[in-house]
Order: sequence, then structure tokens, then C-alpha cells
Amino acid sequence: MKQYDVAIIGSGLGGLQCGYILAKKGYNVCILEKEHQLGGCLQTFKRNGTFFDTGFHYVGGLEEGQFLHTLFSYFDLLDLPWHKMDESGFAEVVLKDKSYFIPSGFDRFVDTLSNDFPHQQRHLKNYADFLKHIGENVANNFKAEGVNFSLFEQSAYSFLQNTIGDSTLQSVLSGASLTMELCAEKLPLYTFAQINSTFIQSAWRLNGGGSLIANKLADSIRTMGGTVLTKAKVTRLIEKNGEITTVEYNDTEQIATKYVISNLHPTLALSLIPESERIRNIYRKRIAAIPNTYGMFTVQLQLEENIVPYLNRNIFIHKEENLWDCSYHPTEKVSAALISYQLPKQGEKYTANIDILTPMHWQEIEKWNDTTVGRRGEEYLAFKQKKAEECIALAAERIPELKNSINKIYTSTPLTYRDYTGTMQGSAYGIQKDCNNVLQTILTPKTPISNLLLTGQNLNLHGIFGVTMTSFFTCAEIVGMESLVRDLPE
Ligand SMILES: Cc1cc2nc3c(=O)[nH]c(=O)nc-3n(C[C@H](O)[C@H](O)[C@H](O)COP(=O)(O)OP(=O)(O)OC[C@H]3O[C@@H](n4cnc5c(N)ncnc54)[C@H](O)[C@@H]3O)c2cc1C
Repeated sequence: MKQYDVAIIGSGLGGLQCGYILAKKGYNVCILEKEHQLGGCLQTFKRNGTFFDTGFHYVGGLEEGQFLHTLFSYFDLLDLPWHKMDESGFAEVVLKDKSYFIPSGFDRFVDTLSNDFPHQQRHLKNYADFLKHIGENVANNFKAEGVNFSLFEQSAYSFLQNTIGDSTLQSVLSGASLTMELCAEKLPLYTFAQINSTFIQSAWRLNGGGSLIANKLADSIRTMGGTVLTKAKVTRLIEKNGEITTVEYNDTEQIATKYVISNLHPTLALSLIPESERIRNIYRKRIAAIPNTYGMFTVQLQLEENIVPYLNRNIFIHKEENLWDCSYHPTEKVSAALISYQLPKQGEKYTANIDILTPMHWQEIEKWNDTTVGRRGEEYLAFKQKKAEECIALAAERIPELKNSINKIYTSTPLTYRDYTGTMQGSAYGIQKDCNNVLQTILTPKTPISNLLLTGQNLNLHGIFGVTMTSFFTCAEIVGMESLVRDLPE
């Protein structure tokens, strides 16, 4: 049986980054991915010569001097074709048909929004100072004292209510966080503030899609002597004397290991060890009971050439007045969407495809739970078509050229994500963090089994930035944080 220092289950961003960090430290790592494509939510697919992103669409904080720049420099990801989004408005938030622009740079942010809300200038300045402070102090999470949980214990919604005196401005400041699941009762202030801070620092698209990140990390891991396997579904973890000693994959193959890192939802990780001396049922039940964030319905449009001008920003459309109601309403029509443009080929002015994303609760598609990709039946296809038409109608209000330029329509639901990335209920961001229940919902990498660690979006923060931070927390359990911080570029 082959022996490794660290076996990593799943090649999402978190799995690959842990593989990279530990391979760089000289550990013999093996990443096992169930799909043929690496990357989980970073996967892309190609149709008729154009590529489509599945999860990841844009990222914040990549400018020199900003923290993701430091981290991506460490991961050797800076030479990918990053493209800066419009500094005067990387996000256009449309409320009741009126557009508001969210620019990059904290001073510009205050100036721009003060033009729309002059009576809120002081509040905007305080808000921007707060977000700036969060961004500047993010590296402190890597210090000996660790993460400061006090901002996780505050509600993002209450914070906005208490610090911003105008309800429309509250919505504008929330509008670009559509995919984050704005849950008034639960969303922690830190989650909201950290992610908004990162985007206001600077916002970036990647020309070629998220799989470039996954493939670059995998190449680096292999160059450093690591192993990356695809079509290797981990089916069981074998425990001996309270530690995982063996990883079984594809039901028949085994490798021996000193450590295991799981990049899966913790419930799925625990399901790989049905019998355990260390994991008590109460722990399993506690983890299984934590709700997950909603998923996304995505409409991906391949467009006729030279018709829809490329827009270097995302558009967030909101038809409902209350942006902070994340509960499921059975008859709801599509009322909010994120529109993301694909970068055109060098020198061209028009986009070849546009993605429209709208939240979708698990309840909407639960009845097809037992089906698999391509075999979900006519009713499901009709459901998707209706949703797609609603999304396109919403987007066409902002993009008049859209309706006459559509060549092909591809759609995906949370079921698609569940089947391609293994996320529970096709949730977009995994475990729903709850400011009233921080101890139960902000998980650490540790598990009751000392050599089994967790990583990925289900733990601390979600998204590219959050997962990257968490990869360091996970690997610190093996090599120590001080040693990792020493390796970061100045
Ligand atoms: C629709 C959507 C849009 C998004 N947009 C953005 C965005 O614009 N910006 C941003 O920053 N973030 C965005 N995100 C979030 C971001 O993509 C994720 O937070 C991040 O990529 C998750 O990484 P992860 O490490 O948690 O792993 P995941 O991506 O969840 O990967 C887990 C991996 O484990 C594999 N796996 C599962 N079970 C097994 C098994 N038994 N054996 C082996 N392998 C297994 C899966 O196949 C998968 O590859 C978006 C997410 C979604 C869904």
C-alpha cells in the first residue's frame, strides 16, 4: 500500500491550497478528487469554444499591498490573467429600477455614495473606515492570539440598522452581497464586513475561469512531488486506535497516511467513518443539524457575436424591498439576480456570454433529490426553463440587446452543484454561519480524531478569500502558524 504524510479528500480550492502549503513544507501529499475535473466550485466547462464558470465569478483584494495579493503571491497565482473590474463601479446595484454604483477604493466609495445620499456622508465615512479597518487587520487572524470572534457574534443586519440612517442606503450597501445569503437574524457582521471590505479594496475577474486556479495549484503540487488523483472518490476512512490510518477510494483501492484533511462538508466527512471510537453520535447529530446556505440557479447564455457590449462590472438587480429575508416562499418568482459578463477576447468590445445567478432554496428542487444529472425528467426541464425565462426577462430590463442575441442557454440548479461538487443540498456557501450560535456554526479545522482535519468554505469564511484564509488555519494544525507566516512574502 502506498504511504503518504497527508491524504486530502477533495480538490476544491481548500484541498488544493492545503496540498500546496504542505508540499512546500516537504510533506508527501496525495489529493483525491472524485470528479475528472479538479477544483470543485472552480470548475469551468466549455461549449462551442467559449468557457463558462460554474461557481467562482470574481474576487476582491488582489491589488499589491492587499492581503489576497500576498496570499496569491505565496501560491504563485498572480501571473494568471486577472482583470481589474471598473474602479468607478465594480458593482451596479439596481433597486426599484434605479442604479447605484459601488466603486473600489474607500475614499471613492464615500464620495460616490455621498452623491446619491448627501445626508448620509458622515455615516458612509464611518462605515468605510470600519470596513477598511477590518481589511487592514485581516492578517492579525494569523497571529498567536488567533481569530477574534467578537465580530462574528454581532449581526450584520443590526449593524447596518444602527449605523446607517437611510433604509435605501442600507439596501444599496447590502445589494452586492446577494449570493452571500442575507439572513437578517443570522449573518455575522464579520462575514459581511470582511467580504465587502475585500471587494471595495479592488475587484477582479479571471480571464479563462476558475479552473485556471485549480490547474495551476495542481501543477505546482505535482512539481513539488505531490500526487493529485482524479476519478478517485474516497469511500471510507479506516480508524485504528483512535486515528485514521488508511483512506479507501473507489471502494477497492487504499493508501496509508499519517494525516487526513477533508475538503468536504463535515457531515459528508463524518459519513466516511460510520464506526468510530472517537466520534460520538451527539457530535454527528450536532453537525448534521446545522443548516446550509441556499444554492444558486444559474442561467448561462451563449450570445451571438458583436451584439452585447462587455460591461466591466457586475449588476445586482433587486425587485423586492426587503433584501434581508432569506426564508423560502413557495410561489416566489425570480426577484433578484446577479449578472456577470464574460471577458471578451483581447481587443474586442463585445461579450460572448453572460451568467445570471439567482438564489434557489433546496425546497424548490428537493422532489428531484433522488435523480442524477441528465435523468431528472420532463417536469424538471420545464421547471428550469420557466426559471431561465424569468431570469432572462429580469436581465433584459438592463441589457436591451440580450433577447435578440441568445444562441444557447445552459442552466444549473443546486442539484447540479450537489452532483458535481458534492456540496450538501447544492448549497452555494456551505454551512450557514449564525451570529447567535457562533460556537456551533463557525467550525475549527479540528475534529474528535486528532489526525483528521477539516478545511474549505464550511468552516470559517466562504468564497475564494475565506477558503484561502482557512487553508492556513488547517495546515497550521500540522506545521504551526508561525512557520507558515514566516513563508509569506513581505
Ligand atoms: C454559484 C456559485 C457562485 C460563486 N461565486 C463566487 C465568487 O464570485 N467569488 C468567490 O470568492 N466565491 C464564489 N463562490 C464560492 C467559492 O466558489 C467557494 O467558496 C469555494 O470555491 C469552495 O471551495 P472549497 O474548498 O470549500 O471546496 P469545494 O469547491 O466545495 O470542493 C470540494 C471538492 O470535494 C470533492 N469531493 C466531494 N466528495 C468527495 C469524495 N468522497 N472523494 C473525493 N472528492 C470528493 C468535490 O468533487 C469537490 O471537487 C461561489 C459559489 C457558487 C456555488
